[in-house]
Amino acid sequence: MRRRQLLFASLAVPLACAAETRPAAVRGRLTQPGGKPPILETPDHKFIPLDGDAATLGVLRDKRLAEADLEALGQPSPGGVFQVGPIHTKAMFVHKDGNRLLITYWCDVCSIRTYTPGICWCCQEETALDLRKPEKE
Ligand SMILES: [Zn+2]
Repeated sequence: MRRRQLLFASLAVPLACAAETRPAAVRGRLTQPGGKPPILETPDHKFIPLDGDAATLGVLRDKRLAEADLEALGQPSPGGVFQVGPIHTKAMFVHKDGNRLLITYWCDVCSIRTYTPGICWCCQEETALDLRKPEKE
């Protein structure tokens, strides 16, 4: 019994932290107007410009994700721009065939996974878009 209580106590800490900075979520169709920030069009036809760090913007500008049903976690800003969480927080998902898939990139040659498009740092080949189910929901 005592063991069980200890387990709950240790679990409570990360949960409390997550609640403090709980991200907002937006979901819609990803559009990539040339030369402008990526925009999410929500099902009720609101247009939400998206911003984030360089790696996040790399994903949002990836042509392979144009028109995707995208969910982004982050914080709305007063100017109406939605700040997507930093790339290491894995804040972007594609909804496809009823699955919520994490956006990743994969080098088949080196078996290296990255989270932004570009060339593999090992073999310099272009990485492939690889949508995958998160390891834990
Ligand atoms: Zn490689």
